[in-house]
Amino acid sequence: MSNQKKIQSPIISHGIDITHLTIAGARRALDSNEYTALDLTEAYLAQIAEHNLILNAYLEVWEDSARAEARAADEMIARGKQKALTGIPLAIKDNILIQGRVASSASKILQKYRAVYNATVIETLKAQGVVFLGRTNMDEFAMGSSTENSAYGVTKNPIDTTRVPGGSSGGSAAAVAGSLALAALGSDTGGSIRQPASHCGLVGLKPTYGAVSRYGLMPMGSSLDQIGPLTRTAEDAEILFAAIAGHDPHDSTSLPSYAIEKKGKKIGVPRSFLSEGIDPDVLSCFNDTLQKLARSGYDIIDIDMPHLPYALSVYYVICPAEVSTNLARYDGIRYGYSAQADTLLEGYMKTRGEGFGPEVRRRILIGTFVLSSGYADAYYRKARSVRALIRKDFSSAFETVDAIALPTAPNPAFKIGEKASDPLAMYLEDIFSVTANLAGVPGISVPMGTVARDGVQLPVGFQLLSGWREEGVLLSMAEAVEKLSQ
Ligand code: GLN
Repeated sequence: MSNQKKIQSPIISHGIDITHLTIAGARRALDSNEYTALDLTEAYLAQIAEHNLILNAYLEVWEDSARAEARAADEMIARGKQKALTGIPLAIKDNILIQGRVASSASKILQKYRAVYNATVIETLKAQGVVFLGRTNMDEFAMGSSTENSAYGVTKNPIDTTRVPGGSSGGSAAAVAGSLALAALGSDTGGSIRQPASHCGLVGLKPTYGAVSRYGLMPMGSSLDQIGPLTRTAEDAEILFAAIAGHDPHDSTSLPSYAIEKKGKKIGVPRSFLSEGIDPDVLSCFNDTLQKLARSGYDIIDIDMPHLPYALSVYYVICPAEVSTNLARYDGIRYGYSAQADTLLEGYMKTRGEGFGPEVRRRILIGTFVLSSGYADAYYRKARSVRALIRKDFSSAFETVDAIALPTAPNPAFKIGEKASDPLAMYLEDIFSVTANLAGVPGISVPMGTVARDGVQLPVGFQLLSGWREEGVLLSMAEAVEKLSQ
C-alpha cells in the first residue's frame, strides 16, 4: 500500500479554502475580518502537519513563533495599522538568515549554525508583520536544479511525488504549490526561483541584480545571486517584490528603489537558440503561448542574440569560481561543523571533505581550477569577456523589444533520481535561465500550460526577461499570459 497522502482539492483547512488562495485574496479577507491571521496560520500549520513528512518541503517549522507573529498581526489589523503583508504566512529558503534560527543552506557543514543577525529582507518582512512558517529545503548552498543535492533528503513535487520540484529553491516551490505556505522567498543564481516555479505551476520572479538586498543571503555566486518571490500569481509576485526591493546600506550593490511601471507590447524571440535540446511538448506549449499573445495584441519579433549559446558554459565557469571563493569561509573554525584533527591542514580537509556534499565539492574544484594561475586567462577571464558580450546581446535586443521570451526550462519536472548521477544533464536544465543572471536583468516564469507524462499533467513555465529595472514589463506580460491560460 502506498504511504503517500495525496493532496486533495479543494483544501479546506481550519474553515478556510486555501486551494487557490493568494496574498491579495488573503489581504482582503483579513482586512474585512472574514478570518484572523491566527486562523490563516493554523490552516497552513495543519496542511504542513499533514503533508510535510511526504513532501519534505520544510526542514523546520516554527509553529510557536508563527502563532505569536499571527497574534501580533491580528493586533496590527485591529488597530488599522496593517501593511501589504501583515498576517501573511510565508516560507523562507534555508539560505536566508533569521536571527536566532538555524540556517543551514541544506548543508551538513551548517547543520547547527544559528544566524546571529537578520537578513535585510527578513527585517523588512518583520516590520510588515509577516508570519514566518519555517525554513525550506534546497540544493546544498543553492547548487542544483532538483533539490536532490540537499543533505536532508529530496523534496517531492506536490503535483507528482515521484518527480523533483526543481531547484535549488525546490522546498519553497513545493511549499507554495502544495498549499503549505501562501508564498515563499527563494534565491536565484542561475534559475533557482524560475525553474522550480516552472516545475510546480507557480510564478517565480528573479529581480534585477541589486533590486533586492543580498545582505544576510548566504552567497553562492555574488555577481549572480538575487532573492525573489515564489507565488501563485503575478499580482502576488508584485506585492512581495515591492515589499522587499530597495536600497540597503549593508549591500553596496543594491539599487535605489524605482517604480514598477506596467508597460510593453514587443516581445523578442531568439529563435535560433531554441533549435535543439528542448522537449517538443514544451516547445509547442511555448509556441502556442506566443501565438495567443500575438492574437491579443502583442508584437512577436524574431531576434538574434548570437552569444546566448555560450551562456551555459560561461555560467559554469563564473559561478563555480565565485562559489570556490565564497565557500572558503567554511573552514571548521569560523562557522558550523568542525572535524577533529591533529593539524590545521588536516582540520580543513576533514571538515570540508565531510561537511560538503559531492556537488559542492565538485564546484569548489572547478572554481579553484578556473581561477588558478596559468588557467585563469584561458577560463575565468575568457568567460568574463563572453559574459560582457552576452550582456551586450541583451542591451541591443532591448533597443527593439521590451522583453525576451524563452521557455523557463527545456523539460517538465523529471523523475527523482533520473539525472542525479549525471551532472552535465543536470546543468543543461539551466540553459535558458542562466542568461538573466549573467546579464543581471530581471526574469519571470509564469505557467503556460501543461504537458502529459505518465498520465499526469505537469506544468511548464513561460519565461520573460526584460531590461534592467523593468520588472513592470515582466509583471504586466505575465498577467497577460495568466489571462490567456484561464
Ligand atoms: N541550477 C543552477 C546551478 O546549479 C542554478 C542554481 C541557483 O540559481 N541557485 O547552479
